[in-house]
Amino acid sequence: MTEISNYIGGEMSAPSDGAFIDDIDPSTGQVYASVPDSGEEDVTKAVDSAERAFAKWSSSSPEFRHDVLMKLSGLIERDLEKLATAECVDNGKPLTLAKAVDIPRAVSNFKFYATAAMHFASESHSNAGQSVNYTLRQPIGVVGCISPWNLPLYLFTWKIAPALAAGNCVVAKPSEITPMTAFLLSELASEAGVPAGVLNIVHGTGPKAGASIVRHPGIKAISFTGGTKTGEWIASEAGPKFKKLSLELGGKNPNIIFADCDYDEMLETTVRSSFANQGQICLCGSRVFVERPIYDRFREDFVKRVRSLKVGDPLEAETNVGAVVSEAHMQKVLSYVELAKQEGGAVLCGGEQVRIEGRCEGGYFLAPAVIEGLSHDCRTNQEEIFGPVVTIMPFDSEEEVLEYANSVRYGLSATVWTGELARAHRVAERLESGIVWVNCWLLRDLRTPFGGVKDSGMGREGGFEALRFFTEEKNVCIKYGP
Ligand code: NDP
Repeated sequence: MTEISNYIGGEMSAPSDGAFIDDIDPSTGQVYASVPDSGEEDVTKAVDSAERAFAKWSSSSPEFRHDVLMKLSGLIERDLEKLATAECVDNGKPLTLAKAVDIPRAVSNFKFYATAAMHFASESHSNAGQSVNYTLRQPIGVVGCISPWNLPLYLFTWKIAPALAAGNCVVAKPSEITPMTAFLLSELASEAGVPAGVLNIVHGTGPKAGASIVRHPGIKAISFTGGTKTGEWIASEAGPKFKKLSLELGGKNPNIIFADCDYDEMLETTVRSSFANQGQICLCGSRVFVERPIYDRFREDFVKRVRSLKVGDPLEAETNVGAVVSEAHMQKVLSYVELAKQEGGAVLCGGEQVRIEGRCEGGYFLAPAVIEGLSHDCRTNQEEIFGPVVTIMPFDSEEEVLEYANSVRYGLSATVWTGELARAHRVAERLESGIVWVNCWLLRDLRTPFGGVKDSGMGREGGFEALRFFTEEKNVCIKYGP
């Protein structure tokens, strides 16, 4: 049993009141670690230590911050195997995925923002020999970073790296359901020479530790990724205190397939965009719209491919679909499959719990589900399920599919498959979505703005957008002379 510690002021520490929560391996259903159930007192200690560290860190040179963050990136790369295994056990995702995506991305996040710190510049405005204005972009102070369980280290570092690169000190909280790699990161932060108090990691539940971060007056900005309902609460709490907010929230992403697409590539990618990480990626396409001339062919080929996915022990190399993150989440996903049936949907495959023999017999495994026969506006097609469930629907025209695609409250990402260039541009322009992928999915360039519209959030991460978020602009106006 590993006992996870908070990381405050550069030291590992137990929560103030000594309370811990169980950390469960979702592939076995067994408790394998304990997580601090931190509260207000722990958050206050973390904020105090961050405030003490701020003056020195915020005035350090970009080169210094670059060197520290590059070192941290290198240490994550060095420990890739260990971190990937920890992520797999904590979250239930296939080890192959953690090795290929989650941990390499954490390496890239620090590398990307370490170098960005050296290139971040601001504007100046000259006024015909009379005056010049220039903009200073200064670190905000102590900022809060709160991340979810689906891509634990990947999303945790996606927030921490730009916050630190911009010269802020951080109080961060990972999901209490998947805290392990954040704990391992705190060990690496010390080894990398991150000065004490610059990065503080407080473990615990959302309503207790998370809410204390949101409420603490010393925390000037909050970068949050998670559910829309939690985002609403954070906005209502932090808004009146005028804290800066970046909210990356839920999605119900359309995957629009026109008959003229590259069929084989579309099919292969659609299996991935539907079920990678057990469908627990905010960018997964959960509503698949297929142009009618290829609908029957697609349904047959897609269901065949989905049936062939191997659901099993996440540690095994041939596993495609691991465990979903928790028993509560499994029950939520199953309840949506029931809802789909009540709404008149036909389950073409999957949608039931799978029992794996041996080590994983107590785990939370689901057979990936494909459902058809539902209207675009039923609850199954409007609400976020965030699991291995997709619906497929035929359409006849661009107008019709745009209406379906845009009919939800969310607008995070969308995928369009077509061989016609003009249509790709036309549809991309009219989709209500922060991100549109054409003939690809999850092809990431970290320089691009990342985020959603409508109830999928506010603000953008990625590139210089994140450095702008984590700094405060100050305009300085200088008159040349009388
Ligand atoms: P939650 O909103 O439940 O939790 C996200 C984080 O917020 C967790 O660390 C959680 O803590 C914490 N939290 C919960 N309540 C509060 C609170 N009152 N105050 C402060 N913090 C709180 O989301 P999930 O973890 O269930 O993640 C899944 C959701 O995340 C999905 O809706 C998904 O779409 C979204 N998501 C969005 C992404 C995007 O980029 N837009 C990317 C990835 C996921 P704890 O878990 O410890 O209780």
